[in-house]
Amino acid sequence: MKSVVKKGFVYLVGAGPGRIDLITVRGAEVLRLADCVICDKLANPALLNLVPKDAEIIHVPKRTPAGGFSQEEINRLLVEKASGGKTVVRLKGGDPCIFGRCAEEAAVLADAGIDFEIVPGVTAGIAAADYTGILLTDRQYSSQVVFVTGQEAEGKQQSNIDWNWLAKFQGTIVFYMGMGNLDFITERLIESGSAADTPAAAVADATLPTQRVVKATLGRLSKKCKEEKIEPPAIVIIGAAANSDARLDWFTKKPLFGKNIVVTRDVFGNADFAAKIICRGGNPIEFPTMKIRPLTESNEFLRAAARLQRAEFGWVIFTSANGVSIFFEALQGLSKDARVFGPARVAAIGSETAVTLSEFGIKADFVPTVFTTEQLGKQLMCFTGLRGKKVLLLRSQVASMELVELLEQAGADVLDAAIYTAIEQKSESNWLIEKIGRGEIDWLTFASPSSARMFFEQIPIQIINSGNVKVASIGPTTSEQLKNLGVRVDVTAGEHTIDGLLDAIEKTHL
Ligand code: SAH
Repeated sequence: MKSVVKKGFVYLVGAGPGRIDLITVRGAEVLRLADCVICDKLANPALLNLVPKDAEIIHVPKRTPAGGFSQEEINRLLVEKASGGKTVVRLKGGDPCIFGRCAEEAAVLADAGIDFEIVPGVTAGIAAADYTGILLTDRQYSSQVVFVTGQEAEGKQQSNIDWNWLAKFQGTIVFYMGMGNLDFITERLIESGSAADTPAAAVADATLPTQRVVKATLGRLSKKCKEEKIEPPAIVIIGAAANSDARLDWFTKKPLFGKNIVVTRDVFGNADFAAKIICRGGNPIEFPTMKIRPLTESNEFLRAAARLQRAEFGWVIFTSANGVSIFFEALQGLSKDARVFGPARVAAIGSETAVTLSEFGIKADFVPTVFTTEQLGKQLMCFTGLRGKKVLLLRSQVASMELVELLEQAGADVLDAAIYTAIEQKSESNWLIEKIGRGEIDWLTFASPSSARMFFEQIPIQIINSGNVKVASIGPTTSEQLKNLGVRVDVTAGEHTIDGLLDAIEKTHL
């Protein structure tokens, strides 16, 4: 029988300017389909988390004296992977076609008879403007915008850039790749007739927590960028637009903007936490301290699940989002679904736990207003009579006995079933110790007593207590653990969730 060879396909995708969630919906969608991703240096590497686990990932930094890939090599790779039947995503920073050599890649694919789609991205010039309030086309002062490459300027005998025309241009000029040539660009514009006092700005790392803006006149911009050590990637904006209204500079005004915040949960918990920090303008630094290991193959769990199915429990209590996800994964393995709860009522210890339950189609019957074990126990007792009720507690193996004791005091018959455990994960820690020592870390965050314990098994406590770094804890139990370890706690969240923890940190910066 003739085997059917899957036809390859290439998506030329714009990753957006930096911040991970500025990729388009279509861009994220095709990353999830990829067999192979060929990725540029400027595309945010965190986007690769969207790619299927078994996909091949090839980083192709541009050729420099230290190595890298030439455009011809990249073209060849694209054709080779797609000809092998793969769905290939060529991921490029910003928009793939704005100074992105997309035209060459698309032409090579067309010649090779390989189908492709171009997925637009938010280009850095526009993002840099929007994230600094330098609005490119305010009708009062600019009816036109021009995007120019700063790279081809220097040394090129026959430049395509018409400097005389640019110097007369009544609008906003946006230079890409201009930092290496900034002296040349600004001098050339002034020589060609631009006023030396034309407003100008450079925006580096636009949309990222490390974003920096320098504003100066055209004549002084290059010097000021050097003084302020502005490094590429940066966009240079020239024209009245650069003299923008400071009130519109919304991004750097966020309370957590530029704050370096270490997250210390497991890899998945850290990813979730990091996304929330990015949304608030902060810079998450991930240092996983533990791995979550499901215990759902244990006899203890399987017996508990069987009893649940026989409708033996009046209440099932989840104390974490992890517990919920692991429980439903295990159900799937057992070819069961949410119907195993039968008539049992379900309680969730926090809003995140409740949200995760709802993702699996279960609306928690009870969520305490304060998310501590003690409050869950006490409020549940007020909410419902527990005397004689059978309660199934599905939680971590390393949880305190407080909740069990409270429920038993209220007359409940409790089965405390461990469905996962947290095991220590050792990470390379010297870089973090050095950063803390140099005063480059603003916050260390702890979302559970175990992460606090495991973190300080790897990082010496003295460095924390002597440095500038502050410590934030999610709730009283975690703070207690930190204090027992000899760590000063600067902030304990009022609402014991990740958002509550960030709210508490934010308050200290207002
Ligand atoms: N295709 C990309 C541009 C590639 S050229 C796009 O549409 O954005 C590379 C140049 O883009 C850099 O030299 C810099 O000028 C600009 N750039 C890319 N990302 C940037 C960022 N986050 N902040 C500022 N400039 C950026």
